[in-house]
Parts: sequence; C-alpha cells; structure tokens
Amino acid sequence: MRQHSLVRLTLPFVKASPEAQQRLLELADLDTELARLEHRRRTLPETAELERLGARSAQIRDAITRADTQLSDLDREQARAERDVEQVRVRIDKDRERLDGGKVSSARELESLQSEVASLRRRQGDLEEVVLELMERREAAQAARDAAAAEQAAVADETAAVTATRDAALAEIGEQAGKAATTRASVAAGVPGELLALYDKLRDSHGGVGAAMLRRGRCEGCHVSLSTVDFNAVRTAAPDEVVRCEECRRILVRTAESGI
Ligand SMILES: [Zn+2]
Repeated sequence: MRQHSLVRLTLPFVKASPEAQQRLLELADLDTELARLEHRRRTLPETAELERLGARSAQIRDAITRADTQLSDLDREQARAERDVEQVRVRIDKDRERLDGGKVSSARELESLQSEVASLRRRQGDLEEVVLELMERREAAQAARDAAAAEQAAVADETAAVTATRDAALAEIGEQAGKAATTRASVAAGVPGELLALYDKLRDSHGGVGAAMLRRGRCEGCHVSLSTVDFNAVRTAAPDEVVRCEECRRILVRTAESGI
C-alpha cells in the first residue's frame, strides 16, 4: 500500500496531534534562522579582510626590518668612507705644511711632495664622491622605511576599524542567535518528545531542517511536487499520522495551505 510507504520509517512509527506537527514548522523556521546566522557568522567579509590586512602587515614588518638593516649597513659604510677622507685630508695638511714651511730644499723632494699632494687630492675627491653616493642611498633607504612605517600605521588603523565592525556584527549575530535559541527552546518544549526526537534526527541529516510544509501539493523542503499517488496517500492519512516526504524524507506538515 502506497500510504504505508509514506510512513515506512527506519525510525519508530510516530503519531502526533496536528497542533504538535504545526509546531515543527515553527521549529523549522527557527532552525533555518539559526543556520542563516551561523552561516553569516562564518562568512563575515570582515574576517577575510582582517586576514588580508594581517598578511599585509607582516609584509610591511619584513620591509621595515630589511630597510633598518640596509640603513645600518650604509651608516657603517659611510663612517668608514668619512674616516678615509679624514686620513687623506690629514696627510695633505702635513704635506702642505712641509711645502709651505720652506723646509724642503731638494728639488726632487719638492717635486715628489707636490706630486703626492696632487695624488692625495684626487683620492680625496674620489672618496668624497663615495660619501655623497652613500648619503644618497641612505636618503632613499630612509624614505622607503618612512613610507613603510606610514603604511603600517594606516594598516593598523584599518585593522582596528575592521575589527570593530566585525565585533559589532558578531555581537549582533550573537544576540539574534540567542533570541532564536531561546524561542526555539520554548517551542521545542511544546513538542512531544518522540516527535521532537524524530525531527532532530532528521534535522541532523537534512541540512538543519527536519520538517517542511506541504503547500499546494508541493514539499517546501525540497520543492518537489508530490506524485498523485503520494498526494492522495497524504490526503487520506489520519491527521495524527506523521507523514514524510518521499523525496527528501523530511516530516511533511499539513496545513490549510496544503491543498487537501
Ligand atoms: Zn521534500
């Protein structure tokens, strides 16, 4: 008999008053709402945004570390080059002192000293070039570090703002879920234990909703219209008989809108 196939359950045969069955629709609505809230909580756009900001912040931190290392290397190089310039300058001064003091009488020595001064001046010029170039590189490295530090501050501000938005959204979701859960508990308290156990079992295996309305011959759970045979079986089933959708196996709740 087709009618029996509708209630052919692997679960115990359940009977419940039409009123108790109606309450399952309220439960289903609340469970849908709870599932929607949970989905929203898991897919908040702020979560992805915070992940992106966190990754960017780590990149910037690395860039700042690299810039700091570069700056201290350049400082060391510049100090060395400046020491070299100073040494050359001291030697030039010493040579000039000897030349200007008129203490050098030998023409050959004079020539040799003058040639050394000329060579030291060229060397001084080269070293000063090096210092200038190092100073330019240092300036560029400092500018890069400053830009990274500014971006880091901006990312920190954005992170704080997005965190606040996310926390507000989580608080709102938590509040709504809390209300829905409270309402659900009071609705569930009005459902006979056996029927509630069946509903909860089906809920676990049917995407969070264990019952659906039969509306104009169609199951509102899987949106499939009942075959004529199944529809007739549901129509003739006793009101306290708990019937199930042949398609999705959810509890099919008959209402004034069922078309029967
Ligand atoms: Zn169905």
